[in-house]
Amino acid sequence: KVVCVTGASGFIASWLVKLLLQRGYTVKATVRDPNDQKKTEHLLSLDGAKERLHLFKADLLAEASFDPVVDGCEGVFHTASPALLSSTNPQAELIEPALKGTLNVLGSCVKVQSIKRVVITSSMAAVGFNGKPLAADVIIDESWFSDPAFCEKTKLWYMLSKTLAEEAAWKFAKEKGIDIITINPGWVIGPLLQPTLNLSVELVLKLVNGTEKFPNKTYRLVDVRDVANAHILAFENPSATGRYCLVGSVKHCSEIVKMLYEISPALNLPDKCADDKPFTPTYQVSKERTQTLGVKYTPLEVSLKDTIESLKNKNFF
Ligand code: NDP
Repeated sequence: KVVCVTGASGFIASWLVKLLLQRGYTVKATVRDPNDQKKTEHLLSLDGAKERLHLFKADLLAEASFDPVVDGCEGVFHTASPALLSSTNPQAELIEPALKGTLNVLGSCVKVQSIKRVVITSSMAAVGFNGKPLAADVIIDESWFSDPAFCEKTKLWYMLSKTLAEEAAWKFAKEKGIDIITINPGWVIGPLLQPTLNLSVELVLKLVNGTEKFPNKTYRLVDVRDVANAHILAFENPSATGRYCLVGSVKHCSEIVKMLYEISPALNLPDKCADDKPFTPTYQVSKERTQTLGVKYTPLEVSLKDTIESLKNKNFF
């Protein structure tokens, strides 16, 4: 079976490509610059890559850029989207590539008869940011949507970009009658396949690398291997439908620091919180729908341990 992965060199997509090749798929993978070895070498050395991985150049903002890539595919995994938490020009840096990019990819998909399903990497950024209070007894599930007006008012530009992209995808799919599924992961950690650092793993690096204070924040965490696996399960299971929130555990940063200490007391961990406000509560995110997909969550201790090992092996600290 032939499938396409957009943004293949990224943290999540690299694992997705690895698992797809392991399962025998032929993968047409897009990168912005196929000549940039940092972006492609780790993909080209994966098991099965020589025989079944084909790299294509494509850009989210270039119309029809994905036409030749999705041609002949049964499934498309659209993961490419800029992931930045601060931006001086959110419209150009985040919103346009996320929104136009998603519509470009879907626009290429509707031209192709062979495509059965498109799995889009959305985010919990498109789920939980609507101003509703997150008390300890709250359970977030797939019926929640982030509110673009709330994201704009609070300058949560990445959240806005993911929310607008997902909303547009559902609207487009309904109008054109194509089968899409969104995977909405929380904060993704786990071992890196690529040589560069991505935004979400950087949090763990900062914690183990001499930061004095940890943020007074609660994180919705999930392992990258579970995220990649969920994408494939969503594609393969004919009864899968709609959105899937993917969060293994919700932890305050103070608890993450404690777990890191238990994993390795020798780490240079922060011992103070960045402010003296009460800790934000650890609400829950429903696992019901992802369990129907067959997702099994990696324990957080294992994800943290493997993240640290990978950062060490790649000489990040
Ligand atoms: P990375 O930063 O590792 O990967 C992002 C990918 O997007 C890169 O491959 C990059 O391509 C591609 N990309 C960005 N802008 C463009 C563009 N204009 N044209 C083509 N490609 C582009 O991030 P992650 O793996 O962490 O994120 C992947 C997806 O998962 C994103 O959609 C993100 O929103 C989503 N996500 C991530 C979470 C996390 O915690 N990491 C949580 C929830 C969702 P290139 O390498 O060629 O520059």
